[in-house]
Amino acid sequence: MIKTARRVVFKTLCDQFKPCHLRAFSTNDVPIIAKQLDAADPQTIIKKALETFGSDCAISFSGAEDVVLIEHASKTGLPFRVFSLDTGRLHPQTYKLFDDVENHYKIRIEYMFPDSAEVEQLVRKKGMFSFYEDGHKECCGVRKVGPLKRQLGTLKAWITGVRKDQSETRVALPVVQVDEVFKGKDGGPLIKWNPLSNQTSSDVWKTITDSGVPFNSLHQDGFISIGCQPCTRPVLPTQHERLGRWWWEDASKKECGLHAKAEKIA
Ligand code: SF4
Repeated sequence: MIKTARRVVFKTLCDQFKPCHLRAFSTNDVPIIAKQLDAADPQTIIKKALETFGSDCAISFSGAEDVVLIEHASKTGLPFRVFSLDTGRLHPQTYKLFDDVENHYKIRIEYMFPDSAEVEQLVRKKGMFSFYEDGHKECCGVRKVGPLKRQLGTLKAWITGVRKDQSETRVALPVVQVDEVFKGKDGGPLIKWNPLSNQTSSDVWKTITDSGVPFNSLHQDGFISIGCQPCTRPVLPTQHERLGRWWWEDASKKECGLHAKAEKIA
């Protein structure tokens, strides 16, 4: 009995003083890893995420520029999972990209759909375009946040395409953080990897063009940030990409709930 207790204490002390890459992952390691990887390229960051979490980790793919996450993941040579939220209101061009990506990488995307009863209730009560009247939060809650929560509740980590240069609310975005909005598997902590955090839009497009990655044809029509069809429009070359999203709303409300508090370090 005493011997067993000693062994447990000894193991705990050993774990505590091991470098973080040699012991079981702890959320306390997240700020350390964030600093270590801050200058790393996206492929190195994704490799670290996949090596650490394996199939408990998945890439979130929106059907836009974040296709580069899949390209970088494929280059790691490690198995990876990809999921996407099909809100039912996406552009036909986005569905075409999903198909192209599945064929190009020989993968199946795990599509998440909204709860049909919740969509019926919203649309029967408020119509198809309620977001133009009273804001996008309610519709995004039903069509995006609900399905995302369901998916994240099966994972320990997710990989996103968010970048510092996309929004003023993302300027301090670390490459990895403890997700402050969503819980993971069994209600436990969820680690959010942001491998493109330090990349610019130009860096992302260089990867897309250099690698021959499939991309959303809407980008050729002036769309930059691409979401649902009724809530996305093209922007002028001199305009910020977020001006193409929910343009009828105040700029400070332009988050869909998927990446709130994204700027905070774990
Ligand atoms: Fe609804 Fe628009 Fe949000 Fe899509 S982006 S879920 S259509 S409010």
